[in-house]
Amino acid sequence: MTFAPTRTAGLERLSDFVPHAGTAYTRTRNFDDGAAAEKMRQNVSQLSPWLRAGLLGETEVIKAILEHHGPTDAESFISEVFWRIYFKGDLEQRPSIWTSYCKGRDAAFAVLDADAALAEPYTKATEGRTGISAFDHWSRELTQTGYLHNHARMWFASIWIFTLKLDWQLGADFFLRHLIDGDAASNTLSWRWVAGLHTKGKTYLARADNIARFTDRHPDGPLAAEGLAEHAEPLEEPIEHARSMPDLPSQCSVDAPYALLLHDEGASHGPLELPHKPSLIIAAARPKARSPRDIGTQARDFASQAVLNGGKAAGEAFGCEVVQWGPKETLASLLENAGIECLATPYLPTGWTRSALWADLSILQQHGELAQLVAQLDRAAWPHAKAGFFRIKKAIPGILGELGFAGG
Ligand SMILES: Cc1cc2nc3c(=O)[nH]c(=O)nc-3n(C[C@H](O)[C@H](O)[C@H](O)COP(=O)(O)OP(=O)(O)OC[C@H]3O[C@@H](n4cnc5c(N)ncnc54)[C@H](O)[C@@H]3O)c2cc1C
Repeated sequence: MTFAPTRTAGLERLSDFVPHAGTAYTRTRNFDDGAAAEKMRQNVSQLSPWLRAGLLGETEVIKAILEHHGPTDAESFISEVFWRIYFKGDLEQRPSIWTSYCKGRDAAFAVLDADAALAEPYTKATEGRTGISAFDHWSRELTQTGYLHNHARMWFASIWIFTLKLDWQLGADFFLRHLIDGDAASNTLSWRWVAGLHTKGKTYLARADNIARFTDRHPDGPLAAEGLAEHAEPLEEPIEHARSMPDLPSQCSVDAPYALLLHDEGASHGPLELPHKPSLIIAAARPKARSPRDIGTQARDFASQAVLNGGKAAGEAFGCEVVQWGPKETLASLLENAGIECLATPYLPTGWTRSALWADLSILQQHGELAQLVAQLDRAAWPHAKAGFFRIKKAIPGILGELGFAGG
């Protein structure tokens, strides 16, 4: 599977996958068939890189699935898409999880930098040299392809934390630096979920028999996992992350000429409901802000080209100029050069893109010149994103019905 960083490639993948998103997905989604699988992993969509970059929106993906399958057959796939929405909504309500992860990651790197003996097991894990065959396979697959199957991510994170006893924040950072779909909410909260920090006290333990069973169709399978931990004691943390639903920006209403800012979380105008045509497109890619360490080539290139291509496509669609906003320029100077005061942008959720861009955007916000576009689906779903996934899961039919989805 190749991941081309354009909306067109994402739409093509969506249309190829739609027929497989019903009961076949429910039956087979847990199998990791490997990157070189003959049928190109048709059991899962591999849409996450396009969804993460905002080249595709969750709404259009769910709509396409429901146009082809009834709600019962599509339930399992839609539920997975809602995991993404749930994690985003949860992190919006508890942003301190992200700041505390960043601090913890930096502190863990400082410890490794000061002690070569401690750095060695980390290096072995990230280079696929631990001696645990399955784990080493996924480690190399991740750095070479930029993608891992969901089950492999769960097994990998569990082995990292409970067998290798490495710091979970370093594992989450390793994923973020290499996953093409690297996402602040889904990644951080999934690692916390495996570690027993998300659903407090409930951990995920990888077992060799389960790995063998769900990798038996893999070209190198069934994968062996030697010497795994037999118990997974939940990790603990000294902080309680307070929850509060932020006031989401109101429905976008920009009357004046405005610039449309596209970024790592919202790289295309395609999924957006824009108030009217923009007069300028500003493209700002910040893949390096994912981590203080080097970003994998696949992840870096997909992210920066997604924004570049998204900007170009928007410029062509609206017949307006496209400018790049690099890390060393100010947004104010770009707007001043174009004689524009207002800016609209896809909503910036908690994570590195927001951290990298917010200093400039907050000035516009203070002057009432910033409109953040929140998807109707997120607006309807995020208030249910608390107290575990099953609460939001129960609300899915109501949310889809409220938004007028066929079959919702
Ligand atoms: C430790 C760990 C780290 C992860 N890190 C990320 C990450 O950085 N970015 C990311 O997008 N997902 C992450 N996931 C979730 C999940 O593994 C991927 O979204 C999924 O594997 C993407 O493949 P797919 O598109 O074929 O999924 P499909 O099975 O086809 O699912 C369709 C879509 O639903 C969403 N989705 C599916 N499963 C999940 C899930 N468990 N959590 C959240 N969303 C889900 C994705 O957007 C996906 O594209 C992580 C999971 C774990 C266990």
